[in-house]
Amino acid sequence: MPEHRPGTPGQHYVLESFLWREFAGVEDWLEWTEEHGLARTATSTREIFDRAMALREALRSLEAMNNGERADDAPARLLNELIESFGVHPLVEPSGDLRLRASAVTGRNAPIASILIMALDAMSKGEWARFKLCQDQSCRASFYDTTKNGTKTWCSMDVCGARNKMRRMRERQKG
Ligand SMILES: [Zn+2]
Repeated sequence: MPEHRPGTPGQHYVLESFLWREFAGVEDWLEWTEEHGLARTATSTREIFDRAMALREALRSLEAMNNGERADDAPARLLNELIESFGVHPLVEPSGDLRLRASAVTGRNAPIASILIMALDAMSKGEWARFKLCQDQSCRASFYDTTKNGTKTWCSMDVCGARNKMRRMRERQKG
């Protein structure tokens, strides 16, 4: 499945990519952050990488919830911990617009804080509910639901949708 869906709002591109991509390791993470203009320093550590992947897993659990699955409160707890440790807080612009800022972030953590703020931004604007994890257990691709009613359950109707429709049909015939 493609990384970006037609119709995903531009401001969600980086978040969409982060949730979709399978990171191979520290080097891959570093490359990705540079590619997306998130890295100020061209270094990273295993610890930073693990923290980024923990954020990714927490957000993906919330994406599964957005697609009707149940989850515990661990993902929200992790997000709240990061909000606390990065000193994320709202800032009112001279224009009257509200912006989220992280005031306690240093170098290597900056990309993680930026991604966290992107997710919080989507949540505060009511757009996070459209970030979903494909219901197909063998797929689990992250996608942004651009349908009018936000009722998409499969990353693709042609692939996962069709496969699951077939499976249900077979089950019905057997039973
Ligand atoms: Zn899928």
